[in-house]
Amino acid sequence: MVSRGLVLGLALFSCGPAAVFAAAPSIQVVPARLVPGTALRITVSGIGADARLRGTLLDTQLVFLRGPDGTWAAFAGIDLDTPPGVYIFEVSGEWDDSATLEHAGEITVVARDYPTEQLKVAGKYVEPPPEVAARIALESAELKKIWARATPEKFYDGSTMRPLAGVAGRNFGRRRVFNGKPRSPHSGADLAAPVGTPVPAAARGRVALARELYFSGNLVVLDHGGGVYTLYAHLSRMDVAEGTMVAAGDIIGQVGATGRVTGPHLHWGARIGEARVDPGRLLELLAGDR
Ligand SMILES: [Zn+2]
Repeated sequence: MVSRGLVLGLALFSCGPAAVFAAAPSIQVVPARLVPGTALRITVSGIGADARLRGTLLDTQLVFLRGPDGTWAAFAGIDLDTPPGVYIFEVSGEWDDSATLEHAGEITVVARDYPTEQLKVAGKYVEPPPEVAARIALESAELKKIWARATPEKFYDGSTMRPLAGVAGRNFGRRRVFNGKPRSPHSGADLAAPVGTPVPAAARGRVALARELYFSGNLVVLDHGGGVYTLYAHLSRMDVAEGTMVAAGDIIGQVGATGRVTGPHLHWGARIGEARVDPGRLLELLAGDR
């Protein structure tokens, strides 16, 4: 979708006998169809390499990073619980001493009915015992801190690898009822595989977390830069340390059945800021994006 918002204060000029025109800034949003749980990319092209760009969408700061082709891109997410409707995004910036950009565009989020799924797990994962309440609160706060921190650096490099390629993970977004009690929607894709199956990183990134958490079990979180994260939960073992860089395809751990599970599988999730998005769709956007 090419968004046609207001573009004001553009510096347009021609120079020289060849009449070279500076390209007008253009702003593009992909994909065109947005439902709760969609990752999207806002691309700004036709502006200077020294640009300082800012923006917001759904109360989240857009972090624009420059690619080798001179375009600037920011990722954003439509959280699973975002109500359908029209939302405004704003982008502003300045470059080349005097050129400025003020843009207000619209995106439309349409409803999607995710099916409901009934699951049976150990009782302690549905009504956690009081003695683990503090631990759960601490872990949830720690994750929130990670999502709130958008690294202003492009770690993703265009190469991607779908973890456990060939295994269908179709339950992203499902409404979940554990032992008869409604809980949060499913924020990832569950990929069933035997314990010990190697798990590759989906894209280049820095290990933001590699730790055992109550619900996620052994969890690896990768920071791909610009507020984009992927998660790998319920691992039987973790093969990476926090702070290290991994490339797409590097093995970060093995499939397991730790935490709140019904059996061995990889829970593969993605976040853009706080927004829970479909990791498979995010990967489509990251593929080829340098
Ligand atoms: Zn899962």
